[in-house]
Amino acid sequence: MVVIIGSGANGLTAAYYLAKAGLKPLVLERRAVVGGGAITEEIAPGFRCPTLAHTVGPMRPEIVRDMRLAARGVEFIAPDPRLVSLAPDGKALAFSNDVARTADAIRAFSDADARAYPDFCRTLAGLAGFLGELLDTTPPSLDGPRMSEWWDLLKTGRRFRALGRTDSFRLLRWLPMPAADLVAEWFTSDLLQAAVAARGIFGATQGPWSAGTGASLLLNAAADPAPGGNSIVIRGGPGALTSAMSAAAIEAGAEIRTGVGVARILVRDGRAAGVVLEDGREIEARAVISGTDPKRTFLTFIDPIELDPSFQVRIRNYRSRGATAKVNFALSALPAFAGVSNPADLKGRLQIGPSIDYLERAYDASKYGEISPEPYLDITLPTLHEPALAPAGAHVMSVYVQFAPYVLANGRSWSDAADDLGRVVTRTIANYAPGLERLILHRQVITPHDLESTYGFTGGHILHGEQSLDQLFTMRPVLGCAQYRTPIAGLYLCSAGTHPGGGITGASGRNAVREILPDILKDLKR
Ligand SMILES: Cc1cc2nc3c(=O)[nH]c(=O)nc-3n(C[C@H](O)[C@H](O)[C@H](O)COP(=O)(O)OP(=O)(O)OC[C@H]3O[C@@H](n4cnc5c(N)ncnc54)[C@H](O)[C@@H]3O)c2cc1C
Repeated sequence: MVVIIGSGANGLTAAYYLAKAGLKPLVLERRAVVGGGAITEEIAPGFRCPTLAHTVGPMRPEIVRDMRLAARGVEFIAPDPRLVSLAPDGKALAFSNDVARTADAIRAFSDADARAYPDFCRTLAGLAGFLGELLDTTPPSLDGPRMSEWWDLLKTGRRFRALGRTDSFRLLRWLPMPAADLVAEWFTSDLLQAAVAARGIFGATQGPWSAGTGASLLLNAAADPAPGGNSIVIRGGPGALTSAMSAAAIEAGAEIRTGVGVARILVRDGRAAGVVLEDGREIEARAVISGTDPKRTFLTFIDPIELDPSFQVRIRNYRSRGATAKVNFALSALPAFAGVSNPADLKGRLQIGPSIDYLERAYDASKYGEISPEPYLDITLPTLHEPALAPAGAHVMSVYVQFAPYVLANGRSWSDAADDLGRVVTRTIANYAPGLERLILHRQVITPHDLESTYGFTGGHILHGEQSLDQLFTMRPVLGCAQYRTPIAGLYLCSAGTHPGGGITGASGRNAVREILPDILKDLKR
């Protein structure tokens, strides 16, 4: 028996590939629904909304193909424009999927930026080509790379050289840079700089001036290099995607049980031997794969006596304090945003975060335990793709909020502060969409504490841990544990807390199975 803890996109992907390899994995999900961060739920009677993530990944194309997700009715929609960035003076900048059209839009703000934009797109696409392949590889072990790892490293080295002198230097410089400096080397206009730099801080507890946010920007670009960022949505919300993934895994031979929380991982003679459920029952297993975040896996599920103290310290030091919240609205009608005259332009993401200084100030507040008085917001209107999510003529609006620190100043609790957060978000959007308040029928506020207690994101970190240079690739989650194996034999990791990190991509789940399947098959023969 192989047990997978958690049915997020990565747990489901791992279940599918293990089942395809002839095993019968058992997925245990604490919540009543599958999907982890990719869920669509009722927020008010008759209103369904992407509860957490509102865009997806993008999913790795091989997974979409292997699970036959299109044939299962999953509709991936790439809106155009993908992003509209809103300015406080009523202007807006639309990022089309077409480079020339976006450059035209940029011309209204700066001629020089419009000229630089195509070259920036080319550069980002080139670097993304190189980095994109790394998303699907297992990071090498630093202790003693195996032959196959040397071979992979050699291939990576050759591809790096093939980038050419200019781009390979750019890559090395950009990774440790603040995203703010990176964009300032290319552009001068506030809206453009902020829209591009925002990808370096999405989900992070960092501002655009934080060192290393260039790496996050590039990691995001590796999956989708367009500077406006990925805006792929699923008709009906991301829950439609994970339901189909779950069906694919079951059809391949997996079993999925919902409403079954794992309390502990059983370890006998240094090996994972099964799990103890929250209701006290035990399930024996030859291998346990955790699709939950690393801190939860090692610090909650495992008896400390089973782990080397220095490893425990490393996991404790793994940074996973989030500063992200979510506010979902049920609206009586579509809000009108200043600067967006065509409602079809609202089908992608909308950004409120009009300058680098705005984004940095939003972050500043969270450093001192405060909710940003003017937060950075990423907004979608899922009913524009699937009107059936709300009653006729009504809408849902999904709003991703930074920054809302996991720990508030002066011992204030999130249950006291949730309403304040809802009000700040409403007021901020209303500055760009006058009259919004009159349309609000219901507001759902999901705080960092809710992210932890209800949805299982330890520390409220939506990416299962900060994606900074010291927690990426060979160091994700920590050195010596980046190959989906752990110090405990038979215990493996497959969540966003492993390479290549967060987002609804399925990449960690797929990489993990490719890497650990031979070990598991050997375990099962024991
Ligand atoms: C507010 C928010 C907005 C986001 N926006 C985006 C976005 O727009 N685009 C994007 O691509 N990504 C986004 N993300 C990130 C994305 O959701 C995550 O990176 C992704 O969900 C990680 O998938 P996973 O399978 O690794 O883990 P998860 O999706 O976290 O799944 C882990 C699963 O484990 C379960 N679990 C936890 N504890 C237990 C237990 N004790 N027993 C059994 N099961 C347990 C959880 O219930 C959960 O189902 C967002 C996340 C959040 C929270």
